[in-house]
Amino acid sequence: MTTLIESDEHQALRAAVAALGERHGRDHRTGLWAEAGKLGYLGVNLPEEYGGGGGGIADLSIVLEELGAAGCPLLMLIVSPAICGTVIARFGTDEQKRAWLPGLADGSRVMAFGITEPDAGSNSHRITTTARRDGDDWVLTGRKVFVSGVDIADATLVVGRTEDARTGRLKPCLFIVPRDTPGFARHPIDMELRAAEKQFELVLDEVRLPASALVGEQEDAGLLQLFAGLNPERIMTAAFAIGMGRHALARAVAYARERTVWDTPIGAHQAIAHPLAQAHIDLELARLMMQRAAHLYDAGDDTGAGEAANMAKYAAGEACVRAVDQAVHTLGGNGLTREFGLASLITASRVARIAPVSREMILNYISHQTLGLPKSY
Ligand SMILES: Cc1cc2nc3c(=O)[nH]c(=O)nc-3n(C[C@H](O)[C@H](O)[C@H](O)COP(=O)(O)OP(=O)(O)OC[C@H]3O[C@@H](n4cnc5c(N)ncnc54)[C@H](O)[C@@H]3O)c2cc1C
Repeated sequence: MTTLIESDEHQALRAAVAALGERHGRDHRTGLWAEAGKLGYLGVNLPEEYGGGGGGIADLSIVLEELGAAGCPLLMLIVSPAICGTVIARFGTDEQKRAWLPGLADGSRVMAFGITEPDAGSNSHRITTTARRDGDDWVLTGRKVFVSGVDIADATLVVGRTEDARTGRLKPCLFIVPRDTPGFARHPIDMELRAAEKQFELVLDEVRLPASALVGEQEDAGLLQLFAGLNPERIMTAAFAIGMGRHALARAVAYARERTVWDTPIGAHQAIAHPLAQAHIDLELARLMMQRAAHLYDAGDDTGAGEAANMAKYAAGEACVRAVDQAVHTLGGNGLTREFGLASLITASRVARIAPVSREMILNYISHQTLGLPKSY
């Protein structure tokens, strides 16, 4: 039942964050991150002993969804507390936990996450960013692309590879790379997105890092660490998409109730009303799957959460794209004006279909893992 009915605490969190979002609104983002951090919302999922709220991804997804529904989503919530915070809380050394978690929890420190590479894309097995040992240090070389928020992040959690001493094969490893480390260059990508967070191409040219930059005690845990971050990332992207879809839908509904060009408001025409009703149903269904994924993840069932998190991300991304499309259409010409603020969501809503894992890669995952169909690639 807990996955179907939200607890009183979750409902209270939802209401409180919604009120904060209302106060800031779409064009008033300055100060939102800091205020949300002070109120404890950015670190709701992180351990209490490091200043977090001691909750889970279910809590953090509520924060992101409600801020998105108010028109002020904080993309870095997906990356900083959800991926990086989770990975460090679960696998970091005591020193890394002490150094990073309190700041990630109150929002005073931010971390970006870089895995995507230009020549690997969806196939992250093919990443070539490589770390080699030099005495006690690590030296990291490679390129990343589309990494969000590197300019505002104190450090980026970079997924690289090291050579396995026994087999000689490359295996994933995660490194904390502070923003101003020599050799760590960032170039903003000219994205067609109206968002506070920018995307960057990163060039790592012989970036020298101390031994303590490697997440965890040992090099062998990299794959586990990576998987630990992926489910929260998908669940949070679902929350991002549902929030944006709700925001667009609410604007369209308000408009359709008022706008009258014949004798009744346009919302009385079923050609307008039904697609909006459908969009609402799709968003609600996506949220149900997101809650299931979050519940499984917070209960420690990483495998069960994997399938649900993928399905939630897929359902939410698709529901968001459809809700935004219908919302824009409902406003007629006004749907494309800057004043009404919906046109830019056409591009923004596509992010949830592409990142962090595309619609097709999720369909592949379900085809192979759930349905047992053969692979084409
Ligand atoms: C706004 C934004 C923010 C982002 N932030 C980050 C970030 O912070 N950190 C980070 O590391 N990355 C980030 N990304 C990158 C994102 O995760 C990638 O764009 C995504 O993983 C897809 O990779 P790609 O762009 O290389 O597409 P490709 O892998 O080149 O895919 C292109 C198309 O081919 C399809 N395709 C590929 N392989 C198959 C297959 N086997 N079967 C069927 N179809 C296939 C895909 O579905 C897609 O439609 C961000 C991207 C965006 C747009």
